[in-house]
Amino acid sequence: MSVVVDSITKIYGTQKALDQVSFKVEPGQVVGFLGPNGAGKSTMMKIISCFIPQTDGKVTVEGFDVNSDPLEVRRRVGYLPEHNPLYLDMYVKEFLLFIGQIQLSRHEALQRTREMIELTGLGPEQNKKISELSKGYRQRVGLAQSMIHAPGVLILDEPTTGLDPNQLVEIRNLIRNIGREKTVILSTHIMQEVEAICNRVIIINKGKIVADEDTSRLRAQAGGRNVIRVEFDKEVEAAELSSIPGVLKVRKEKDKTWALEGAAEADIRQELFRFAVDRGLSVLMMQKEENNLETVFRQLTVDK
Ligand code: ADP
Ligand code: MG
Repeated sequence: MSVVVDSITKIYGTQKALDQVSFKVEPGQVVGFLGPNGAGKSTMMKIISCFIPQTDGKVTVEGFDVNSDPLEVRRRVGYLPEHNPLYLDMYVKEFLLFIGQIQLSRHEALQRTREMIELTGLGPEQNKKISELSKGYRQRVGLAQSMIHAPGVLILDEPTTGLDPNQLVEIRNLIRNIGREKTVILSTHIMQEVEAICNRVIIINKGKIVADEDTSRLRAQAGGRNVIRVEFDKEVEAAELSSIPGVLKVRKEKDKTWALEGAAEADIRQELFRFAVDRGLSVLMMQKEENNLETVFRQLTVDK
C-alpha cells in the first residue's frame, strides 16, 4: 500500500476536524478527496505530509509511520499546500534548484530541475521571476516543486482553486499525466474535477468519510437514477403518480411539485404528459435531473 490511514482523529481545541477516518491507497491510484469547505480535507493532507500531528490513529506512507519515521515519509511524499507560498522574487529555475538542494545533491537537483521544467511545461518561463507568472504557471511551479525530490506519492490540496477555465484544463491534464506514474491524492470541492482526473473518490463531510468508491462505479450508480421533476397546476395524489407506467418512486418536493424516479433506460416523460392530459392537469414545469454525480455529492454532504 502507498498510504494507509487508520482511524485518524484530529481535534483542534474543542473542534473535531477528523473523526476516525480510515482508508488505504494503492500504488498508482489517483484519489479525489472530495468535500465541502470545512470537511477536514486539508487537515487530512497535512497529517499525511507530516505537517501537523494527529490526535489519534496511525498513518503510514510506503510502510513508514508519519510519527516515528517523518524523514522517510517526507522523502516519499510531495505536498502542494492549498495556498502554496512561493518566493516571488526568485526566478523559476533558481527557485526549483533551491528547493531541490534541500533534499538532493547539487548535481541531482540540477538534473531534477531540468526534468521538472520539461514535465510541467515551464520551459519558456524558466528564466522569469515567479512574480511575473500567471496563476496557472505559478501552480506549475508548485507542482514542479512538490515533485522535485521524485516522491512516489503526491498530495495536492485544491490544486485548481482560483484558476481560470483554460488554466484549469491545463493543470488538470498535467495532473492526469503525472497520475500515470505516481500515487496521487488530491482534494477538491468540485465533483467534475474528480470525474476529470481521478479513478477513485473519497467523499468526506464534517470529518467523516461518507463514500469511498471507484469513480466509474459511482457514476454508474448515479447514472442509474433517472429523475424527472414536474410541477402541476393542481394537487395530485402520490398513488396516482405511482401508477404511471415506468415510474418506480414518487417524492413530493413542494405542494404541487414532484420528483419521479424511473428506471435508468426508461423515459417517463411521454407517459407523464399523457397522465396530465387524461386528468385535465397543466404541466407548469418538467425537468430532467442532470449531472447525477453532483446530485449524489449533494445528497451525501448537505444537511447531514
Ligand atoms: P477543508 O480543507 O475540508 O476545508 P480543514 O481541514 O481546513 O477543512 O478544516 C476542518 C475543520 O477544522 C474546519 O472546521 C476548520 O475550521 C477547523 N480547523 C482547521 N485548522 C484549524 C486550526 N489550525 N485551528 C482550529 N481549527 C481548525
Ligand atoms: Mg482545505
